[in-house]
Amino acid sequence: MFRKLVDRAILQYKVTTKSDLHIGGHTTVEPAEVDNPVIKNTEGYPIIPGSSLKGVMRTEVERLLKGLDIKVCDVFDNESYGGCNECPVCYLFGGKDLASSIRIKDAVADNKKTLIRDSVAIDRQTRKARDGGKYDIEAVPRGTIFKGTITIENTGIESDGYLYDHAKLGGLLGLIDFFNACSGNIGHAVSRGFGEVEIEIEKLNLITAQDYLDGKYEGSEYSPQTDEYQDLKSNAAADWSKYVKEDKHVCQEG
Ligand SMILES: [Zn+2]
Repeated sequence: MFRKLVDRAILQYKVTTKSDLHIGGHTTVEPAEVDNPVIKNTEGYPIIPGSSLKGVMRTEVERLLKGLDIKVCDVFDNESYGGCNECPVCYLFGGKDLASSIRIKDAVADNKKTLIRDSVAIDRQTRKARDGGKYDIEAVPRGTIFKGTITIENTGIESDGYLYDHAKLGGLLGLIDFFNACSGNIGHAVSRGFGEVEIEIEKLNLITAQDYLDGKYEGSEYSPQTDEYQDLKSNAAADWSKYVKEDKHVCQEG
């Protein structure tokens, strides 16, 4: 929990599959009829778990910031496993003792259609198909739309008495653009052409503490096609960029 709530952003997001998608998991509906079922909700609709998207975004922002020589913690480094609590990545997605301020809810498919593809298990040693190694893989077809919600508690980052207004929002929106520009992939069997997706924001509500007090529980609503949204987005991007360049805020070395 956060000691104080300055504002909250609620983003409605949409994921469109550009190729077949396989995110495996235990299905809660009926016993699986295929070897590798896709993960579904209790009503049988395929889902993209929020944790999967978050994992992809976290890895992406880590790589980006490292590319800018900004020190961030590394989830692959056992020393800082779970996050150092202090770097920009931790401020966005949480650290060992720092709650994540970005919560991504599962995205749910708009229909139940899936397809079954045959696959062949490859023997790691011989690199040839294993005897009897044929198995089925269930996938969500290309063109499926998933919808979900992202919330950000406190879109700004306060550091050394300075408030970077909508830094977290800017960081997240920039990441989504970057992900799409590089034809982002999620899920499994990516090397076989699965999992190409596009993420779009359909609506953003920004609710301040004052809005709550005034009973304006929806706050201000922004639609991506408007100038207001683009202004908010570019200001937020500038706040994020200013924040990450302040190198005194990043992880200590060693
Ligand atoms: Zn960190």
